[in-house]
Amino acid sequence: MVKSPKRYPEMREPRARPRYVGPATFFRAPHSETCEDVDIGVIGVPFDGGVTHRPGARHGPRAVREQSTLIRRVNQATGVDPFALARVVDLGDAWVEEPFELTAALGEIEEFFLAVRSAGVVPLSVGGDHSISLPILRAVANGGPLGMVHIDAHCDTGDDYLGSRFHHGAPFRRAVEEGLLDPRRVIQIGVRGSLGAADAWAFSYESGMRVVPIEEFSDRGWRWAADEARRVVGQGPAYLTFDIDSLDPAYAPGTGTPEAGGLTTLEAQRLLRELRGVDFVGADLVEVSPPFDSAGLTALNAANLLFEILCLHAEARQARGAAGPAPA
Ligand code: MN
Ligand code: MN
Repeated sequence: MVKSPKRYPEMREPRARPRYVGPATFFRAPHSETCEDVDIGVIGVPFDGGVTHRPGARHGPRAVREQSTLIRRVNQATGVDPFALARVVDLGDAWVEEPFELTAALGEIEEFFLAVRSAGVVPLSVGGDHSISLPILRAVANGGPLGMVHIDAHCDTGDDYLGSRFHHGAPFRRAVEEGLLDPRRVIQIGVRGSLGAADAWAFSYESGMRVVPIEEFSDRGWRWAADEARRVVGQGPAYLTFDIDSLDPAYAPGTGTPEAGGLTTLEAQRLLRELRGVDFVGADLVEVSPPFDSAGLTALNAANLLFEILCLHAEARQARGAAGPAPA
């Protein structure tokens, strides 16, 4: 039996229903499996074949969808209503048919995002582990290297590990090698933790990336870090990648490689809000691992940070002169 509201007919509109009913989608946005009439596509990438320690990020998209049901329309701090600026749609999952074949899996993810990009849709992805950023960048870089704001406890510019070139500790080294990122327009914020070797992140420094260790962030603050990010990335197109392990494990226990002494959720929110004006062309939020997520806190914080990221992309898209939704 199909439920058809009688007393409150406006509740036929998906976003007007009680927020706890029906299958969960990102932000309770409509779900579609085509890119027609979509400006910003929110996409799950339930793949964690690139993790080096605790797994589980393949369950991240579902948990973030569930927790995002509490997200409302308007950003109270900036006044931005992303759903008025762009047609936001849950495009489902870029799921992988051969999850045990790592390079083939990354190829499948790239193929999905090529279709999204060629339809002119701005992709916001929810991982999945951080290895998914490489195939997404291959699809969205569109011929030219991008700048990037990267918020993470780790630089993810390592080299081969356990016999593989592709894992969640190396995607941005590979992206530079493949000409997808301009390292001089990349900033990495929140870096910390014990190292396998003193020069573990040498590639970041030697290639010219701006690395902001957590100590510098702690001394100078989120507002300075945002200014620095805007300076480094400049005017050109940029990608945004947010690893939830950048947050302190107190705020994000549900992740594969937690590192003590990280950002608060509020610092991350305020840092993201200060990035208005950057020409973002896509983003991902990765490494939410629900099996380690007591009380759903990590996924809840991820959903709130994804909303900040959505607001940035809705504004950036508008600034590029793209049309918004037709007036109702
Ligand atoms: Mn990390
Ligand atoms: Mn990472």
